[in-house]
Amino acid sequence: MSIHKSDALQYVKGIGPKRAAALREIGIDSIPKLLYYLPRDYLDRSRITKIKDLSRLVEAGNEVTVIGTVFRQLVKRTRRGKQMFYLTLKDETGYLTCIFFAGVQWYQNAFEAGEVLAVSSVPELDKLNRPQFIHPEFDRLKAKDEEDETDWNSLLHTGAIIPKYRSSEELRQVGLDNRGFRRIIRNAIRDNLASVIEHQPREILDRRSLMDIHSTLKHIHFPKSYDERDAALQRLKFDELFFFQLLMAYRRRELKGELKGISFNVKSTLARTLLSSLPFELTDAQTRVIREITDDMQQSTPMNRLLQGDVGSGKTIVALFAMLVAVDNGFQCALMAPTEILAEQHFFTLKEFLAKLPVNIRLLVGGQRKKLREDILEDVRHGSAQIVIGTHALIQEHIDFANLGLIVIDEQHRFGVAQRAILRQKGKENPDVLVMTATPIPRTLSLTLYGDLDVSVIDELPKGRKPVKTAVRTEKEKAKVFHFVQEEVKRGRQAYIVYPLIEESEKVDLKAAMAEFKKLSDNDFSEFRLGLMHGRLAPEEKDMLMHKFKSGEIHILVATTVIEVGIDIPNASIMIVENAERFGLSQLHQLRGRVGRGEEQSYCILLTDDLAEKRAVQLATNRAEAIKQNSDIKKRLQTMVQTNDGFKIAEVDLELRGPGDFFGTRQSGLPAFQVADIVHDTEILLRARQEAFDLVKRDPQLRLPQHEQIRKQFELVYKDLLAYVRIG
Ligand code: ADP
Ligand code: MG
Repeated sequence: MSIHKSDALQYVKGIGPKRAAALREIGIDSIPKLLYYLPRDYLDRSRITKIKDLSRLVEAGNEVTVIGTVFRQLVKRTRRGKQMFYLTLKDETGYLTCIFFAGVQWYQNAFEAGEVLAVSSVPELDKLNRPQFIHPEFDRLKAKDEEDETDWNSLLHTGAIIPKYRSSEELRQVGLDNRGFRRIIRNAIRDNLASVIEHQPREILDRRSLMDIHSTLKHIHFPKSYDERDAALQRLKFDELFFFQLLMAYRRRELKGELKGISFNVKSTLARTLLSSLPFELTDAQTRVIREITDDMQQSTPMNRLLQGDVGSGKTIVALFAMLVAVDNGFQCALMAPTEILAEQHFFTLKEFLAKLPVNIRLLVGGQRKKLREDILEDVRHGSAQIVIGTHALIQEHIDFANLGLIVIDEQHRFGVAQRAILRQKGKENPDVLVMTATPIPRTLSLTLYGDLDVSVIDELPKGRKPVKTAVRTEKEKAKVFHFVQEEVKRGRQAYIVYPLIEESEKVDLKAAMAEFKKLSDNDFSEFRLGLMHGRLAPEEKDMLMHKFKSGEIHILVATTVIEVGIDIPNASIMIVENAERFGLSQLHQLRGRVGRGEEQSYCILLTDDLAEKRAVQLATNRAEAIKQNSDIKKRLQTMVQTNDGFKIAEVDLELRGPGDFFGTRQSGLPAFQVADIVHDTEILLRARQEAFDLVKRDPQLRLPQHEQIRKQFELVYKDLLAYVRIG
């Protein structure tokens, strides 16, 4: 997609200076970029319904599309004085009313009698059993008196598939609604396709049976059939995954081949002493991954390993063995956790394990007294701090290490390629890196997120663990649930009660949690000692609370989701989650992972009010959305009840939420793929990965003429990340 002068947008028929400016605003500044502005959807001919057939489709509850002419428009007032906009469309079989109650001002000026629209929604019946659409999505097909016969006529009569494009108020103002986009893109494909240069060599296209780029662009915008569209999509997905894997291939090559790492002597006295003093036996899986890790450490190239293991599988101790090897070799280790609470917990756990060993371990978190902090930093700088524990700020804050040899990143799936690359620049030599995650990721995803890492898996829980029993209960049954908690606490157990804390309304939620805390302390649990844990507490306060809970001084810990990850209190055997419908699946699994860590039978009770369904309906802007939200909630809660297997849970979660959400927002380090679906496109991903890795092996500098365009495209796609890899 190299940009020449003749690629300027104005060369496209239908684009003048105004439209060009509007397009530039959304990042389209050349013809190739316009051609890569892909449809967000298509008008699906198989879903186009005649109005007379709507009534009998109500039952099915699926979305359908009607094409009709604007016949009548009016604004009505409800008894409560709210305005509603009624739009009636007509086709040759009847009349359909569409009702809009939000944005009435806008809608009442939006349509013109005689214009042709496609409207899509789940059909419903009004009081007189006539079909109606509530807030349908609409698409303008043809203005009144417009001559253009291509669009909707061709859709109805020839079976062509019509693309829909994302638009915005600004774009609509210059005529770039769906219809506008269809026009200019059709023109660009007819006249300016040569602006896009094929970047894949013939060889790869043939081997992988992929369409050339010109046909691809033609067919993705204006396919004659869905098969044709799918073939085009395959090619685009391949490209997207190919370039990402190319990035991975270079990262890996650099890490494996060229970087000089530390070759540790893995016969460690400290590790051996720890092993003989452990209060339990390591599982086979732990022993195996410790060997995989120490094998890596022995190599002269730096380690880049992902340690995957479900919650409670015992990753911390594995990391500790690795750290002791590094310490025995005279190097420092950094252990980074996603939250301060977790960092503090690691600090205390490790200190306990190391009680009899001569290892200096320090905790560095925000909110420490200045004097203490300087003292710690001094120790880190001079190397007397052998294990340093902190949050991710450890690498972000330019902290100086004397001789950093091993970096361990705990519970971190929000750590992208770029961030991992920064890590390397910390050590004078190239430190080894071990990334630990409790989120078992499907293979496709790990190849995407961690395509540059080796993977170790702990696939076994310590012996004697009883699976946590999980149940869903409604608010009405709360008294019973609390009674159960009282009984268990009397028997010596401890419990968590967790409240959701959603960022946008953090203050409100926190207030609610505090109010509940007071209620619980005064009423249901007045005979027990309770503590309230939340993110706004100072580090010492959190610390003290955790200590009190660990020592049993506090019986019930009421908390917001700050306790979600990592906390390890084996005597706590009950997890109550309030408003469980507001949590995502992995979150629930993490929360449940806080119990079931000891010998006792543990319980996880998910509380959700009966109103959950109703609220979801109200919240959602349209009915289809509401139905989906509801079924998602049910599915999440059911999955929790049905399985304890983190891997299955992750897959359901991924299915429900899609990869973007699954890994949190921007931060995730997951590239924003436009067309590839990294959950389902496993096959394409594997092929793209193989081609990318082969290519780097054959022509590392991409110097061969047939690879010139790949190189250009690569530089364009990943210009931000290329700072972290070297081509060649
Ligand atoms: P996670 O993998 O979730 O980080 P942790 O490392 O916190 O798990 O370990 C969970 C608990 O299991 C800790 O209390 C830890 O001391 C304990 N543990 C770890 N390995 C074993 C083992 N092999 N046998 C028994 N308990 C173990
Ligand atoms: Mg852990």
